[in-house]
Amino acid sequence: MNLFDLPQPSVPVSGTDQQFPVRRIYCIGRNYEKHVAEMGYDVKRSKPFYFAKPADAIVLSGATVDYPPLTEDLHHEIEFVVAIGKRGSNVSVDEALDYVFGYAVGIDLTRRDLQRAAKEKARPWETAKGFDQSAPISAIHRAEDIGHPSSGRIWLAVNGQIRQDAGLNELIWNVSESIAELSTLFELAPGDLLYTGTPAGVGPLNPGDEVTGGIEGIDEIRIKIS
Ligand code: MN
Repeated sequence: MNLFDLPQPSVPVSGTDQQFPVRRIYCIGRNYEKHVAEMGYDVKRSKPFYFAKPADAIVLSGATVDYPPLTEDLHHEIEFVVAIGKRGSNVSVDEALDYVFGYAVGIDLTRRDLQRAAKEKARPWETAKGFDQSAPISAIHRAEDIGHPSSGRIWLAVNGQIRQDAGLNELIWNVSESIAELSTLFELAPGDLLYTGTPAGVGPLNPGDEVTGGIEGIDEIRIKIS
């Protein structure tokens, strides 16, 4: 085997034999009011802010995720994920949905203790957010098949107990606004994923936990922590 014969991280496209090749993973912080409040911030509609995870942090639904090292506070964040299918910069809000290939259900796994320390010291978030296996995701469902969901229920349960339960209509920045703003910072391209933020109810995970979640009209996701 060639040392440099590296796998391309990819996500199955539901209803096809296609794989969506993951190029970049962008994430939005603080995009649901009740989550902003639970994290101790004022809810005000300032611009959305973004962070990123490496493409190979992708984990497919059904997988077992190792409890990551150097944390004692691994948190779940269920998220509505947008898959980009068109290249472009400075996209207008009106045209933003043309850039969407499809949608998925994701979990933004977070080392909350490291994030807290990073915030206190004004340091970057990579170790809190961009660690190995930090981006579980369901299959991607094409917009041509399911449309553009904007109001379905988004939920997450741990060992069958509901922890997060909200609606996509609670997003502070909707999909069009989030894409338009992101495209002022980076050129978007096919293969990009955007995790759009989590609703209230984030909390700790432990080895042995079964994590399930879903978004009405898209799909469900299931991972186990080991
Ligand atoms: Mn998040």
